[in-house]
Amino acid sequence: MTMTMTMITTTTLTPDSATTPTTPTTSTSPRIAIIGAGPGGLTCARILQRAGVDVTVYERDASPDARDQGGTLDMQTATGQVALAAAGLLERFMAIGRPEGQDERALDKTGAVLEERIAAPGDTAKPEIDRADLRRLLLDSLAPGTIRYGAALDHATPMGAGRHELAFRDGATATVDLLVGADGAWSRVRPLVSPVQPFYEGVMFVEVRLANVDEDHPAIAALVGRGSMFALSDGKGLIAQRQARGAIRVYVAFRGPTDWAARAGVDLADPDAVRAALLGMFGDWAPGLRAILVECDNLFIDRPIYALPVPHRWATRAGVTLLGDAAHLMSPFSGLGTNTAMLDGADLARTIIDAPDLRAALATYEATMLPRAAANAAVAHEGLGAIFANAADNMREHMAASHPA
Ligand SMILES: Cc1cc2nc3c(=O)[nH]c(=O)nc-3n(C[C@H](O)[C@H](O)[C@H](O)COP(=O)(O)OP(=O)(O)OC[C@H]3O[C@@H](n4cnc5c(N)ncnc54)[C@H](O)[C@@H]3O)c2cc1C
Repeated sequence: MTMTMTMITTTTLTPDSATTPTTPTTSTSPRIAIIGAGPGGLTCARILQRAGVDVTVYERDASPDARDQGGTLDMQTATGQVALAAAGLLERFMAIGRPEGQDERALDKTGAVLEERIAAPGDTAKPEIDRADLRRLLLDSLAPGTIRYGAALDHATPMGAGRHELAFRDGATATVDLLVGADGAWSRVRPLVSPVQPFYEGVMFVEVRLANVDEDHPAIAALVGRGSMFALSDGKGLIAQRQARGAIRVYVAFRGPTDWAARAGVDLADPDAVRAALLGMFGDWAPGLRAILVECDNLFIDRPIYALPVPHRWATRAGVTLLGDAAHLMSPFSGLGTNTAMLDGADLARTIIDAPDLRAALATYEATMLPRAAANAAVAHEGLGAIFANAADNMREHMAASHPA
């Protein structure tokens, strides 16, 4: 069944065909709750809303700008761009995306360039966009009031017939016919379908930032170029990405425990101590690369890399499903986390709109989403393992594999 704005007021998408009559009525539009206003949840909400389906997004952040949204990511032709097109946002994305951000270079610790790819003019295979700009694009496409900010889900309880009662940390509750967990790595919805928790991949990213690079850090700006620079050797890396508005974000990557700093006697709240520790760790790297650690802002943020086991599957449950990182958290080494989350959101919305009832929609969606997620997550897991085993050589292979001829 294809639903339109008119149809939702005159006929129904039934909450659960097994338990609810399918006769058209005027008041049984399912109450759909998406937990999490990340790229996956927002894409789903946007496509549902465009088709006239009521949806509410519950987001734990107090406001859209409550926290830094992270670095830059690429939107790929076969995944993120498909989702943006389904959301009617591809043209707007192309207007603000950075095709030149597709440039990539791989270096070793001496600073030697091992491999370099310059995006050809007109190449829009995977333009970059800052996460904050992507989120803004999606947020601005939703009707006012779609998102409830400051609504952190604590837990959800099955009520029968596919319905769930949501309990929020501030004491509020809501009952819904469809619960979509788009709430990321540490999903509060996931326990309803699966007991599995993310595991630590054994690789730590320490995020550092540089602002106004062309004026204030010209040598680093030249080193990174217009896109991404991967300097990898000895199972360690400096992964730098240019962002919009003259910024560069760098992930200082190394194998180690999540409490690496404590074990090294370093107070993470003391920037000088962290800087010195990282400079020690990269002591035999080229001065031009070490300059990143010398010149970066006084802000060092641990980002341990977690993933869900591959494959992560579950049997379809009435009235609840997952998308994005909640379903298939993977390391960044496939470059597909956000892309896959958005494609999940688009697929789920489409099946909700087209299927005769919610149970059928979830079964159809999960039959597509779960195998795709497993394939992408396997690439991410293997990519991380290969890169951090023998970093420089394997980075070249990884780049070649990500750019098939
Ligand atoms: C260092 C790093 C670099 C990456 N680079 C890339 C890249 O280049 N390309 C790419 O495609 N992917 C990349 N990823 C992966 C990408 O960040 C994720 O896959 C993507 O953000 C997943 O989107 P999502 O919508 O599923 O979840 P999220 O983006 O995590 O959004 C979840 C939302 O849910 C909210 N939330 C959480 N818990 C609750 C709760 N209890 N109640 C209410 N709201 C809640 C959160 O506040 C958040 O807004 C990277 C990841 C990391 C760690």
